[in-house]
Amino acid sequence: MIITKQKPLEETMDMTEPYSKIFVVGCGKCATVCQTGGEEEVAAMVEELKDKISDFAVVEEPCDLRLTRRDLKAHKETIAGSDAVLVMNCGAGVQTIADYTGRIVLPALDTMFIGSTERIGRFYDRCKACGECILDETGGICPITRCAKSILNGPCGGQVEGKCEVGEYKNDCAWILIWKKLKEQERLDLFAEFRPPRDHGKKALLTEIIF
Ligand code: SF4
Ligand code: SF4
Repeated sequence: MIITKQKPLEETMDMTEPYSKIFVVGCGKCATVCQTGGEEEVAAMVEELKDKISDFAVVEEPCDLRLTRRDLKAHKETIAGSDAVLVMNCGAGVQTIADYTGRIVLPALDTMFIGSTERIGRFYDRCKACGECILDETGGICPITRCAKSILNGPCGGQVEGKCEVGEYKNDCAWILIWKKLKEQERLDLFAEFRPPRDHGKKALLTEIIF
């Protein structure tokens, strides 16, 4: 799931200040679960912006252009007559709304990471969408995400008793976790394997996938 948090209200108010007619779009999926852009949060935002609101809608899954098209179809004229669209979605949703509406878009949320959910309000950063997954080699623990330096051949010299020097030894060292997991699975040969540096140029070119 894409984890988002709301921008401070003051920042959103500043962003919307130049516009007098604003359409608000919420998200029925991830932002609903994060309680950052679902029905309730959209209603609260509409209440905050009061007279400026032209209308609002919660799209089932705004990062999917097909669902955005379907759910905003009835609002097309209102959106065209609005000065801006305040989007309470992740960055992918904001850009889909921008493409579909052609209007000025204002992001009300900050997109944090691809995360796993323990419960509402407790999310864990688990994937940076690196495009070359190596979880098979690392016991299902992602070093790109969970190592503070994203190193591929750890641990570095900064771990003490399994804790990472970054963040004052509060967090577990990802590479110690990986070592423990691989040991438990009797696959420590993978730990010793050298992983060459990533070709970030390759990832930079991977901005679309077409089947
Ligand atoms: S290695 Fe980590 S960042 Fe890359 S795809 Fe796998 S989980 Fe995501
Ligand atoms: S101590 Fe471990 S988690 Fe921290 S930067 Fe070094 S290898 Fe990564």
